[in-house]
Amino acid sequence: PVITRFAPSPTGYLHIGGARTALFNWLYARGRGGKFLLRIEDTDRARHTEAAVQAILDGLTWLGLDWDEEPVSQYSRTERHAEIANQLLAEGKAYRCYLSPAELEAAREKAKATNIRFESPWREADPATAPAGAPYAIRFKAPQKGETIVEDAVQGRVTFPNAALDDLIILRSDGVPTYNLAVVVDDHDMGITHVVRGDDHLNNAARQSQIYRALGWDVPVFAHVPLIHGQDGAKLSKRHGALGVEAYRDMGILPEGLANYLLRLGWGHGDEEIISYERAKELFDLSGVGKSPSRLDLDKLIHVNSHYVAALSDDAFIDAVTPFLEVGGIHLDADKKERLRRSVSFLKSRCATLAEISKAAAFLLLDRPLTIEGKAAKPLKKDGAREILADIVALLEDPAVWTSSDALDERLQTFVADRNIGFGAIGQPARAALTAGHPSPGLGEVLYGLGREESLARLSDQAQ
Ligand code: GLU
Repeated sequence: PVITRFAPSPTGYLHIGGARTALFNWLYARGRGGKFLLRIEDTDRARHTEAAVQAILDGLTWLGLDWDEEPVSQYSRTERHAEIANQLLAEGKAYRCYLSPAELEAAREKAKATNIRFESPWREADPATAPAGAPYAIRFKAPQKGETIVEDAVQGRVTFPNAALDDLIILRSDGVPTYNLAVVVDDHDMGITHVVRGDDHLNNAARQSQIYRALGWDVPVFAHVPLIHGQDGAKLSKRHGALGVEAYRDMGILPEGLANYLLRLGWGHGDEEIISYERAKELFDLSGVGKSPSRLDLDKLIHVNSHYVAALSDDAFIDAVTPFLEVGGIHLDADKKERLRRSVSFLKSRCATLAEISKAAAFLLLDRPLTIEGKAAKPLKKDGAREILADIVALLEDPAVWTSSDALDERLQTFVADRNIGFGAIGQPARAALTAGHPSPGLGEVLYGLGREESLARLSDQAQ
């Protein structure tokens, strides 16, 4: 069975690069009836907080990426890591290194100057010559000759000359295990079959492969995914929108929209742009992941998002936009909620992101009497405009016309035809009186959205 994992360091937010890594792992497992596990790489105790972990879990939950079993804390497994380090030591696959910091520094300098890989003299030294009671680190005895090959599901075969990979410390002199050892032991114990992660870990994969082999453990399938870059091609930074997923949520991006966008960023299935979770589970494969870095494109993200906004049910749309109106200080009472509901198709078409609701719904949510100023007030100043508004009020008094926006439009068309005037003669002052110049749909839709009572009141306010 396939078992994948996402192994974030708890930085306090789920970065979108991490979100994509998690998504790929989740899709790969879920599409194959496998498991998707979480491991929190929380060994940096100085920076560790529960809130930072929770922020990552919240980000995953918002994206709809559910995980199996309790998240594993890497820190809680320190003893197990030390046990394996000592096992390697006992088997002669690692050794005690007594180099002091000063000696280490000198040896490293020498290695650099001679371009020969750094090597601790303790690799070959007789342990009997060890200084009694002196602190030591445990170093992995990395192969000196030949090559280490990583067969990567994305990068292909990647060859590392062993001369470039020195003897890694696996357990520090203070008893703290190091990163590459911890990852190998955890991935093994968690039964991970596929490691999908950023290609900044490709070098680690070589070192980790050596440790797996020394332990006689199966090496998992590695898949190193190119990182996401900014639109200018540079490595993603905050400046580019390398934000936590909650920043996208607050911009009014739907989780499905973000996931679809991240999926298509670096993975493709022909020209298909809109790919639901269900379809993605069916289609996603590591072989479809591209080798070159992808560029974050906010416009594209918003475009993809607009499809998911349009696909929301009316109720789901209203629920989704409500917090964005509340942020702007607008509270929806039952009447205003009804107005939104009656205007849902216009509103959806104007909201590529949910945050655009404030602008799109402004005409519906104004409080009477409307303040109509500047250019918007012009049609009301024309001769006869206010009289015509009074005529429209009389015309639309009848509740029977308020069945649909089409019925209202028809009634208005008949009216202008009877009077032999252009539609603009009623349309312009009516729109001014009803919307105060805010973006709005066709007149019938405006009236229908506002409802009979509110429409007649707004028209009457400007009529005489
Ligand atoms: N904790 C590592 C990171 O945040 C991930 C390591 C891994 O996936 O093996 O980049």
